[in-house]
Amino acid sequence: MEIKNKTTGLLKLSREIKKWSKELGFNNVGITDIELRQHEKYLERWLKRDFQGEMEYMKIHGKKRSRPEKLFKGTKRIISVSIDYLPPGHKGTELLDHPKKAYIASYAQGRDYHKVLRKKLKLLVERIKLATPTSSRVFVDSAPVLEKAIAEKAGIGWIGKNTLLLNKRAGSYFFLGEIYTDLDLPIDEPFEGNHCGSCSACIDICPTKAFEGPYQLDSRKCISYLTIEFKGSIPKELRPLMGNRIFGCDDCQIYCPWNKFAKFSKEDDFRPRNNLENSELVDLFSWSKEEFLKKTEGSPIRRAGYECWLRNIAIALGNADKTKKIIDALNSRKNFPSALVREHVNWALNQHLG
Ligand code: SF4
Repeated sequence: MEIKNKTTGLLKLSREIKKWSKELGFNNVGITDIELRQHEKYLERWLKRDFQGEMEYMKIHGKKRSRPEKLFKGTKRIISVSIDYLPPGHKGTELLDHPKKAYIASYAQGRDYHKVLRKKLKLLVERIKLATPTSSRVFVDSAPVLEKAIAEKAGIGWIGKNTLLLNKRAGSYFFLGEIYTDLDLPIDEPFEGNHCGSCSACIDICPTKAFEGPYQLDSRKCISYLTIEFKGSIPKELRPLMGNRIFGCDDCQIYCPWNKFAKFSKEDDFRPRNNLENSELVDLFSWSKEEFLKKTEGSPIRRAGYECWLRNIAIALGNADKTKKIIDALNSRKNFPSALVREHVNWALNQHLG
């Protein structure tokens, strides 16, 4: 009788958690167990091929990523949530390879999603704690968590050939977050099937051909990795292929047919700030370090750092149509203190002047 009451109580709680999640603005929520061994093998193969590039943190956490109880002791279930982020009026292909303007990945034009999601997840945990005692911890892309595998198991969508999570209703323009909990909540059905079918648009369209095949992304060639995570000199053969993408890249999402169904986000925090959705490269290139720090406060762009920001824009200026304004802008940074920036500026000038 006691067991039956407990089960009924947990079932009721799981329904309430889903209701509270929606009230907090999450678009999808699912609950799953912690069995991720199948994905552990995939991760090991990926790491073996050094596809993680300089993201050493992908390696150093060992099995914590695929064994949630090693990351947070006592974890029995994971509550996985998603929230749409596409800002209203998003321009899609309109800005890609624009002769003067910058392309910044759509997820990065507004407030840092880590902060937005973490705040909401903490509120959800507080709400759960009012209902029952629990030991729970929230994660938003900040710890070794297999977030896409977890979301797939929790029924939110399927992992597409572009390695992103896809959902029939929302495409792939959404963030994921997790709550690891010791509550023995009933689990949801995993997402069944893979709806990529014979499509390979993301693989074919990738500007730097970063996919070795379906589900096989070599980060070392991925523009998102190169412009955000990678801090060194960008391989010269990849620079012309980067076009005007100065922070992240959306190509494997823009051309994905499922993103016809993506919804604009209702979250004001994800709306573009500082005109980042429609800025000229030369204007962004003229920012001083102080301006960079001020204008990227609370933005994911901070992650790149000022030097890499200039490095990325220098490449885009080298790929842009030649104008006096662009040559002047590049010349103004020719003696910039950082050798990394100078090298990319010289490359860009060389593209125009030979
Ligand atoms: S572009 Fe096609 S193959 Fe790639 S993720 Fe979308 S549906 Fe799948």
